Amino acid sequence: MKAVPHDFAVEWDAQAYRFVRQENYTNDDGAIGAFLIWETACPDCGDRFLVTTGKTFRAPNRRCGVCKSPGKRVRGKKRRAP
Ligand SMILES: [Zn+2]
Repeated sequence: MKAVPHDFAVEWDAQAYRFVRQENYTNDDGAIGAFLIWETACPDCGDRFLVTTGKTFRAPNRRCGVCKSPGKRVRGKKRRAP
């Protein structure tokens, strides 16, 4: 697997995720896998928190652990004034 650039970041549905680090693991069959850790800002409270995804960045958590609402979609950009 290719190394991920240090300042790599992606945007998912208008929410920015900054790459933090990759963690490798070995499963029971001896196969090596990896998951990726990202930092993002909660669209509800603005707190920064970490999100873990598989190697494919798909449907990441949108809200922090305090605000999480499974099944409830984030609607639009709900940003606070800086
Ligand atoms: Zn939150």
